Order: sequence, then structure tokens, then C-alpha cells
Amino acid sequence: MSSDIASPPSALLATLDLPDPSRLLPTQVRGATCVWCSERLSGATAMDLGPRMEPILGIAGRWFPRGCVPCTLQEVLAAYKTHGMSCEQCVDDATLCNVQRALRALALELRRSR
Ligand SMILES: [Zn+2]
Ligand SMILES: [Zn+2]
Repeated sequence: MSSDIASPPSALLATLDLPDPSRLLPTQVRGATCVWCSERLSGATAMDLGPRMEPILGIAGRWFPRGCVPCTLQEVLAAYKTHGMSCEQCVDDATLCNVQRALRALALELRRSR
């Protein structure tokens, strides 16, 4: 039995670190523009990063962040680098870590669609 069917690599997009929504423009909170660089997004290039539940200006709210491919790739690579330092499985044997493998697959996928 393989555990590879758990969740698609893209599910990790909902776990990436994002800027505080209270500091973002309304268009970024709506997902109309990139949450990192505020570039206007089209359906074809936007990466869904949510939905997220977070307090926005003190009020608990749901928001729908999206990112452009270059920014999302950069964040995935950053998560890939920091994951290894905080993951017990990776310290033990990184080749057996599903998260590490999924982050890698996601980075490759993003590189292709850039
Ligand atoms: Zn961007
Ligand atoms: Zn790991």
C-alpha cells in the first residue's frame, strides 16, 4: 500500500505563510491581485492559496488569497528550505517525508507553468 494518494501537492498551497491580511489591499484579500506583489491575476495564472480563516482588522473573517506563479514558486521554495529544519521525519530521513516530497513536486509544477 502506498500513502502517495493522501492529498495532491497543491493542497500545500493552503499552508503557505502569507502576509497579515489587515495590511493588504482589498483587492489582495479578495484574490483579485497577488497577495505578495499585488499583480493583477487572471484565472489561468492565479494560484489559489485558501480559503483562510483569520482576523482581519480584528474581525474574524474568511478570505481568499491568490498568488501569481513567480511569487508562489518563491514561497514554495522557501517553505521547502525551512520545512527540513523543523520536521522530525526530515531530520531522520528526508526521502520518506511526504510533505518534503509534495513541496518538491509543487515547485516543479510551478516552474513548468511559469
Ligand atoms: Zn506575485
Ligand atoms: Zn518533513
